[in-house]
Amino acid sequence: RRVLRESGEPIRFRVRGVEIGGETPVIIAGPCSIEDRDMIVETAEAIKRILVDKYGFRNVVIRGGAWKPRTSPYSFQGHGAKALEWLREAGDRTGLPVATEVMDPRDVKTAAEYVDIMWVGARNMQNTPLLRELARAGKPVLLKRHFGATINEWLCSAEYLLAGGLEEVALVERGTRGFNEYARFSLDITVVPVVREVSRLPIIVDVSHPAGRRSLVPWLARAALAAGAHGVMMEVHPNPDKALSDSKQQLPFKMFEELVDQLRGAGLI
Ligand code: PEP
Ligand code: MN
Repeated sequence: RRVLRESGEPIRFRVRGVEIGGETPVIIAGPCSIEDRDMIVETAEAIKRILVDKYGFRNVVIRGGAWKPRTSPYSFQGHGAKALEWLREAGDRTGLPVATEVMDPRDVKTAAEYVDIMWVGARNMQNTPLLRELARAGKPVLLKRHFGATINEWLCSAEYLLAGGLEEVALVERGTRGFNEYARFSLDITVVPVVREVSRLPIIVDVSHPAGRRSLVPWLARAALAAGAHGVMMEVHPNPDKALSDSKQQLPFKMFEELVDQLRGAGLI
C-alpha cells in the first residue's frame, strides 16, 4: 500500500508557498462555519496579523466550513457555494491558502474552483465516491479520522486518494469516542508518532473538536506539536459566543493570539 512508510519517502507538498509535511508545522485556523462575507475576511486578516505580520510565520492556511455536517437537520447547514466566494476573497486579501470541507462528491468540482485545499470531515472518512472524486480533482486533500475508526481503516481511506493518483494528502486526527465525558472526544495523541512511523503521510491534529470547549484548546495544541504533529487545526471566530456552530470551542482572536505567543515562546512553531 502506497500510504505505508515502507513504500516510499515521506510525503511533503506545497500549496501557495505553505509547506505541509516539512520541518515547519502548519497552522490551519479559521471559523467552524463561514457565516457571512465580513466575518471570514475579518478572521483571515486577524490570523494574518497574529502570525504573518507579528512573527513572520507564513505556514498558515485559512479554514472555513461552507457545507456543514450537522447532527440535526434543523441546525445551521452552511451557506454552500456562496460561502466559497467569501472564503476565496479572504484568501486573496491575505495571500494565504484557503481550505474547506466537501461532503458531497457532486460539490467537488465547484469547491476545487474556489479553494486551495479540500478536507474530508470525520463523518465522511469512508465516503468512497467522495474520495475517488477528490483524487480526480487533483487538489491537496486533508483526510480527517472518523471518531470510531481504527488507524488501518483511516489509512485505507487515504489509500483511495493515493490509488486515484493524488499524492498531496495529509491526515488529520480529531479525537475518537472514548471514556472522557469531560471533553467532546478523546484526543488520541498516540497516533502522531504512530502515523509518523508507519505512514508516508503528514499528520495534523485538529485540537478544537476533541476539546469541545475553548479552555482546553491551548493544552491540546501544545501537546500535539510537542508530540511531533506536522501542524494543528483550530477554530477561530470574531465572536464565538454568537457563532452559528461550535460556539463553545472556537477561540476569540485574543485567545488565539495568546496561544500563538506561547507556541512561539516555547519554540513549537
Ligand atoms: C470541522 O472541521 O469543521 C468538522 C466538522 O470537524 P470533524 O469532521 O472532525 O467533526
Ligand atoms: Mn466545528
